[in-house]
Amino acid sequence: MEEYDVIIVGAGVVGALCARELSRYRLRVLLVEKAADVCSGASKANSGIVHATTSPRPGSLKARYCAQGGRLMPAVCRELSVPFERVGSLTVAMSHREMRVLRGLLARGTTNGDEGLEIVEAERLRCLEPALSEAAVAALYAPNVGVVNPMLLTIAAAENAVMNGVTLALNTEVTGLLVEGERIVGVATGCGEYRCRYLVNATGAHSDEVMRWAGLDDLRLRPRRGDYFVLDRPDRRPGPSEPGHSREGDPLVRHVIFPIPTPASKGILITPTTEGNLLLGPTSTVSHWREHPPVDGDGLATVEEQVKRLVHSLDLRRCIAVFAGSRPSGARDFLVRLEQRPAGLLNLAGIESPGLTAAPAIAKEAVRLLAEDGLNLSPNEEFDPVRPAPVRVTELSPEERAGLVAEDPAYGRIICRCEEVSEGEIVDAIHSSVPATTLDALKKRLRVGAGRCQGGFDLPLVVEILARELGVSPYEVTKSGSTSVVLAGPTPAAAGSEE
Ligand SMILES: Cc1cc2nc3c(=O)[nH]c(=O)nc-3n(C[C@H](O)[C@H](O)[C@H](O)COP(=O)(O)OP(=O)(O)OC[C@H]3O[C@@H](n4cnc5c(N)ncnc54)[C@H](O)[C@@H]3O)c2cc1C
Repeated sequence: MEEYDVIIVGAGVVGALCARELSRYRLRVLLVEKAADVCSGASKANSGIVHATTSPRPGSLKARYCAQGGRLMPAVCRELSVPFERVGSLTVAMSHREMRVLRGLLARGTTNGDEGLEIVEAERLRCLEPALSEAAVAALYAPNVGVVNPMLLTIAAAENAVMNGVTLALNTEVTGLLVEGERIVGVATGCGEYRCRYLVNATGAHSDEVMRWAGLDDLRLRPRRGDYFVLDRPDRRPGPSEPGHSREGDPLVRHVIFPIPTPASKGILITPTTEGNLLLGPTSTVSHWREHPPVDGDGLATVEEQVKRLVHSLDLRRCIAVFAGSRPSGARDFLVRLEQRPAGLLNLAGIESPGLTAAPAIAKEAVRLLAEDGLNLSPNEEFDPVRPAPVRVTELSPEERAGLVAEDPAYGRIICRCEEVSEGEIVDAIHSSVPATTLDALKKRLRVGAGRCQGGFDLPLVVEILARELGVSPYEVTKSGSTSVVLAGPTPAAAGSEE
């Protein structure tokens, strides 16, 4: 049986960053993920906001790790070559009565250590965000709020961990714990058993179930669904590109726009993404889907109604996709705890919002807790915190692009026209250290099929490239692993025998 110092179960943003932190030391670390790709839970379907600390209760772990994580995030993103933009946020009061709430949020954020928070009144508000409704009377301005691409962050963290020696096991579901006396000593999976000195539970929506396997019953998660619209990027300005001048059109909204929060959520917001789209949502509805919830029509109608109160001119005809995510709700606070009974188990459980923001801090805390319990941390002399940026042809100058295409013509064959992704980039992603072996995995890394046509033009070409590079039949190519085949046709066995 293979033996590790630490096994991390769950390769969401928390597990992946935890693996990266542990790879700074000479340890045998295994990162186990049941899906065909990392970032397959809440980390792939959220607002991507690096939050201020105006929501969490002072003294809570949410407040502490949100503040720390927000401070760490820009450097983490720089090292991992992941886009991060400090866009700032506006929490908008629509009546003078709501001003009281803004003052409360300001006080809470300041107590939690946020800097630069201020209440801005109508005139300044209009300058900051001209498209905002005339009815807006004031807003809490949080200039440090940022946006990050949560999928690229998780993938890059996992890639960097693997580069630094972590073993990644995809398509490997943990189905039980190995216990000896009062200690967890490993996991049983669909692919065999693995032993470890420490087990880290980073299973997101399933973290309470894993705790129950260990006899711990103090967390009951109740999922809450969040529905979103994705709006297309602004149209490019007409005319030829001039050196040094982007042709990208002006975004309608530049800040994250929050309404006044409700007791259950931060409300339904308008969020610019690092790629230039706008996200509208999420709802917050009790649901029985722990993961991959279907999008709800009534939820989307609520989103439309709420966001139009904030910005009347939002045009929902620019919607190119809808999606839903599931929050692992139900806990009053994050549960970050190294257990004594049974020993050897570190729970990073119930990490709902602001879990993306907090993840870099939770990862550091995980390492501190393990070290405090006796895990020997001798430095990994070969650790490299930098994960180089993959080639993106759209980001190259015309000369660089021509040079690259001369070396490898695959970088000149554009497969995804909306997002301008070349065959060369797709092949790179398929053979990267965390390989993209499904359509969704390529979409997360490269936005293939995430643009205006939503894959209408590129899908057959991408299937062909995946099949060729993976050495399988096109009928075996999947959307997201397991049985999610894309093409109807002969069964995998029959397709194989035809070739
Ligand atoms: C609608 C919505 C909006 C949000 N917006 C924000 C935001 O703007 N900013 C912010 O800071 N936070 C936000 N969050 C919260 C944030 O997304 C989560 O806190 C964070 O992604 C949790 O990461 P995780 O790694 O704990 O869980 P996950 O990303 O869910 O990862 C858990 C992983 O464990 C795997 N797994 C589960 N069980 C097993 C098993 N038995 N064996 C092997 N693998 C297993 C799953 O497949 C999954 O990949 C939002 C969440 C939602 C749902």
